[in-house]
Order: sequence, then C-alpha cells, then structure tokens
Amino acid sequence: MRKAHASTRATEVREVSKPDEQWRQELTPLQYSVLRHAHTERPFTGEYVHNHQDGSYRCAGCGSKLFSSDAKFDSGTGWPSFDEPAVAEAVELRADNSLFMRRTEVVCRRCGGHLGHVFNDGPTSTGQRYCINSCSLAFAPAAAEGEQDAGEAEQHSGEAEQAGPARG
Ligand code: FE
Repeated sequence: MRKAHASTRATEVREVSKPDEQWRQELTPLQYSVLRHAHTERPFTGEYVHNHQDGSYRCAGCGSKLFSSDAKFDSGTGWPSFDEPAVAEAVELRADNSLFMRRTEVVCRRCGGHLGHVFNDGPTSTGQRYCINSCSLAFAPAAAEGEQDAGEAEQHSGEAEQAGPARG
C-alpha cells in the first residue's frame, strides 16, 4: 500500500525529544535560541570558527556526530563551514524560505536542533558549503574520541556533567 503523501517532514518524532522548557534549562541561552528557534549566532563569534584541531563535531543538543574536522574549511564567512556531513543520515535538509531568501536549512536528525544552512557554492569537489553555527556544535578532539564515543556532548557550559542522552 502506498502512502498518499510521502512527507518531506517525516521525522517530527525525534529520537531525542524533550519539552521546550527542558531544552531551555539544559542549553545556554544562545544555544537555545539557535538550536530550538533557528536563530543565527553573530559571525566570527563562535569558538569553532578558527578551530583546526582534528576531531569531530557533535550536536550540542544531543551529541549526535555530525561533522568531521576533515570536512572543515575556512569559508571566510565567520561560521564553521564543512563540505559534507560525517554521516549523511545524521542531518536533515529542508527548505527555508524565511527572510525573503530561498535557503536549505540543516537540522540534526536526532533531536531536530537547527544547525545552520547548506549552500551550493562550496570550493571542494562536493560543491557544498555547510554553514553551521558554532554554538550548535560540541567539538570532540580526536584523542578523546575513543573515550567518549557514547554520544554525549559536553557542551553545556556552566553545568555539572550530565548523563548523556539515553539510547534506545
Ligand atoms: Fe541533535
């Protein structure tokens, strides 16, 4: 049997889903406004804009692995930029026609958090430029990756360590 409408927003039910108030408490105010309300951090203010360390960038909301340092390049825009996701299924793309622009929004598939936008003007062979808010990301240096591969993002500054998101 065929479904009448193959929804482009199939994943409204997220693997990681929390009440808005809980997100507000767990995230910093900036992370909350970006991840949960699709705001954009000011360019050149994020801590990862000029980060050149090896490692991976995880979702600051849920810890899902999103981008690798191998894919990072200096776009000059003031936001961390990547030419592809680390795991294609980890991100979800959807049309964003807000602010009188036609853009493609990039969202964390696991928690629905807003990450940034993707553009087709990338300088590498993928042709893509994932323009991602620093504060939506939690960087895990390559050396520490093995130890903390459980998926938690230790990004909630000012908070004591939190249990990682439950899996399954
Ligand atoms: Fe997430």
